[in-house]
Amino acid sequence: MMALKAYAVLEKDEYTGDIYFAPRAIVAAKAGANEYGDGELSYIQCRRAPWADAFAGKGVPAKVAADHGWHFECHGCGIQIDSDLEEEHRLPVDGIVGTMHGAVYCCARCKWKHIKREARRKQEEAAAIEDFKAIVRARFPDADFADDESEFRGHHAYVTRADRSGFWHRGQVIVAFRFPGMKIGPAHFRVESCHRIGPPIAGYTCCNGDREAFEAYAGATRARH
Ligand SMILES: [Zn+2]
Repeated sequence: MMALKAYAVLEKDEYTGDIYFAPRAIVAAKAGANEYGDGELSYIQCRRAPWADAFAGKGVPAKVAADHGWHFECHGCGIQIDSDLEEEHRLPVDGIVGTMHGAVYCCARCKWKHIKREARRKQEEAAAIEDFKAIVRARFPDADFADDESEFRGHHAYVTRADRSGFWHRGQVIVAFRFPGMKIGPAHFRVESCHRIGPPIAGYTCCNGDREAFEAYAGATRARH
């Protein structure tokens, strides 16, 4: 097998791009053009990047790439990561975590904080969904919650935390449930509170083709109370 060589392929307008490993420049250029230049070879530049050859099949460490002029946005705190990291943020370039094709962090501590924050956010999202299921259950006691649906048709929660506060704002919560006579997809109970002041906007929605069935179900459920 021919050894793969590293090529830096950059789109010429904004100089965004990637390192590609290929046996020949044209192969790397075509791959890069497809990704960054609408398939047009004239929109990109492709140069050999021998410093990255050793990382074929392994992923290029972001700290090595930073040393060769590449820059990234920290996945944890959002600062620009490049060879000036030490000067600008007092963080050693050698401490940059991650590879070019994955999440890159300015330092190990930032990655750890990000992972903890994400785990907490997931917990808060799950708690929000459980709370809103209880609201739905109060209205539709036999609601069949669509726990197995994709994220597009199923439950969804968007929560944010104000800096340094323990308070999580529930920006949007959607709970999905099935009902007798449903043909197209689950109905949703949806709460949006984009503003922190004022009442949230809440309501039930269903797919167009299921309107009659849902209204009949809502009417029948209400009658029982
Ligand atoms: Zn960071």
